[in-house]
Amino acid sequence: MCGIVGVVGNTNATDILIQGLEKLEYRGYDSAGIFVLGGAENHLVKAVGRIAELSAKTAGVEGTTGIGHTRWATHGVPNYENAHPHQSTSGRFTLVHNGVIENYEELKAEYLSDIKFLSETDTEVIVQLIEHFSNEGLSTEEAFTKVVTLLHGSYALGLLDEQDKDTIYVAKNKSPLLVGVGEGFNVIASDALA
Ligand code: GLU
Repeated sequence: MCGIVGVVGNTNATDILIQGLEKLEYRGYDSAGIFVLGGAENHLVKAVGRIAELSAKTAGVEGTTGIGHTRWATHGVPNYENAHPHQSTSGRFTLVHNGVIENYEELKAEYLSDIKFLSETDTEVIVQLIEHFSNEGLSTEEAFTKVVTLLHGSYALGLLDEQDKDTIYVAKNKSPLLVGVGEGFNVIASDALA
């Protein structure tokens, strides 16, 4: 379990995410990543190793809303594909997760047998499940809430829907997650330092 940061509604989203991740570095991690939207285009940037290596890849990454993650691998080796954030097949949903989902294999077998997975993580099952229930007609909030009720284990989650640039969906069980309410923008973090 490592770190999460997120911001919604601030034109310096990328800087806020990188600075937040730097404050989480002391916890130890093997890879890191951010997803930023609300600018001219969406950006998914990931790197194995230090935040400095991630930061070096963020030139031109601009937006108002984003989520960031430092990973301590529990399911799948530390590599680019397994680094967070993870996305659903269509790219509509993007998720960061701290913790461990104990029943991810059962959920994968029950609901997602036709999905091609890009990572070995338990986390990717969560974001693919959200898209699965969205495709069945649930709103994003309904799909997120339904998936959370199916999960066994520990989690802090931050979810973005590219169709709604003004909202981060969050949930937690056993893993820490804080919400910071600002003036004109809000933040989330797994640790008060960030
Ligand atoms: N279980 C997830 C993974 O292995 C999240 C690990 C974490 O909390 O950093 O990718």
